[in-house]
Amino acid sequence: MKYISTRGNALAKTFTEILLGGLAPDGGLYLPEEYPQVTRAELDAWRKLSYADLAFAVLSKFADDIPANDLKRIVNKTYTPAVYCNTRTGSDARDITPLRTLEPGLHILELSNGPTLAFKDMAMQLLGNLFEYALGRQRDELNILGATSGDTGSSAEYAMRGKRGIRVFMLSPLGKMSRFQTAQMFSLQDPNIFNIAIRGVFDNAQDIVKAVSNDHTFKAKHKIGTVNSINWARVSAQIVYYFKGYFAATKSNDEQVAFSVPSGNFGNICAGHIARMMGLPIGQLILATNENDVLDEFFRTGVYRPRSSDHTYHTSSPSMDISKASNFERFIFDLAGRDAARVREFWSRVDAGGAFDIKGTPYWDEVPHFRFVSGKSCHADRIKTIRELWEEYGVMIDTHTADGLKVGLEQRRPSLPLICLETAQPAKFEETIREALGREPERPAAMEGIENLPQRVVVMVADVHAVKDFITQHAAG
Ligand SMILES: *Cc1c(COP(=O)(O)O)cnc(C)c1O
Repeated sequence: MKYISTRGNALAKTFTEILLGGLAPDGGLYLPEEYPQVTRAELDAWRKLSYADLAFAVLSKFADDIPANDLKRIVNKTYTPAVYCNTRTGSDARDITPLRTLEPGLHILELSNGPTLAFKDMAMQLLGNLFEYALGRQRDELNILGATSGDTGSSAEYAMRGKRGIRVFMLSPLGKMSRFQTAQMFSLQDPNIFNIAIRGVFDNAQDIVKAVSNDHTFKAKHKIGTVNSINWARVSAQIVYYFKGYFAATKSNDEQVAFSVPSGNFGNICAGHIARMMGLPIGQLILATNENDVLDEFFRTGVYRPRSSDHTYHTSSPSMDISKASNFERFIFDLAGRDAARVREFWSRVDAGGAFDIKGTPYWDEVPHFRFVSGKSCHADRIKTIRELWEEYGVMIDTHTADGLKVGLEQRRPSLPLICLETAQPAKFEETIREALGREPERPAAMEGIENLPQRVVVMVADVHAVKDFITQHAAG
């Protein structure tokens, strides 16, 4: 299988060739030349598989340049009940992504039982093992540099901790993350993980990462890489749980389902789109946003208008506070019949700070064929949904999952079973849970008292040179 760029001006590459990189050299995103098709016989056989075996079956279609035995070993090491152990009462860690049925036809797919209690662990844990494997084969090393305001950074650190040949330099705004998130990251004592707290806000940290990445000499010399959500391996790992959730919620492969997905960068739901393109019977892909509703606006009006960071609201579902959906280009490439010239034209406007509008083009009429619908949710909706779920079903959900449920229930077709993806656990968002329920969120046993563990962090001013000096002193390679 070869991967091509959505902008059409890059050489086709293999899975391992694009594994460690980010954007294609022409500025586009990689996608398979063609989506592998899953036959009915395969679907029937896959229904019985464990998560790890299913992951192997799905990923074999994409990572066909990794020898099967190696891929099998990597997948078996990743998808274990010991890694996804943070289940709450009533669900079984052996399922990896347990399906919680609220009532017939209404389910929550738990994707947040990994080490950082967010769905990003589903893909990031695999990425850590794939990176270690690929670097080991090439006898190479990598220094991962990133900026985080919470979820992505901790997920990356927990995926890369203790991995040979990899060091992580993670910048975060000093004092701006929740106590729980701070404790999760800073309590890691692994010598290959470097937490750097920047005096400033998230954008200061982000700007430093951009400045370092734009210094191509420094970047090449110190083997700097990233693990952002456009990474193809992350998207492909996420495809697996759409299959798993489908099998868990249905009895036969003749049935269709709806998935509701709390969205920000369009990474999670992009995997759902690809699962459907491969032949999984998905009748609806319901995209939910919070007040940052750029994607909802597109599916309602045909206009994609990213906003600047000054026009991005801070909400109580902070991991969706995104106004430029980095994976969206993958969907538009498919929507536009894989016409890279059109994608280039659309993104020349986006990259110049503008917008594009597909209403009135034939592409707009194609949207329903891709089964997407959308809606948005606000703080009051989240509070109400968290409360209702707790009162009606005794189930506690986090703020992002609440956005998904609210929009899912609003947009679902009654004939389809609805699977709402749980993207984080309530323990990460204590303040809002207290506001909604007047009580503390449930916390997995392993997370009790993490705020009291010793913390390992260096504090720096928001200065590119200081960060570069630190990397130079501590980088691998
Ligand atoms: C990252 C994240 C999202 C958004 O996922 P995308 O792939 O960016 O659309 C939603 N919820 C939580 C809890 C997250 O961490």
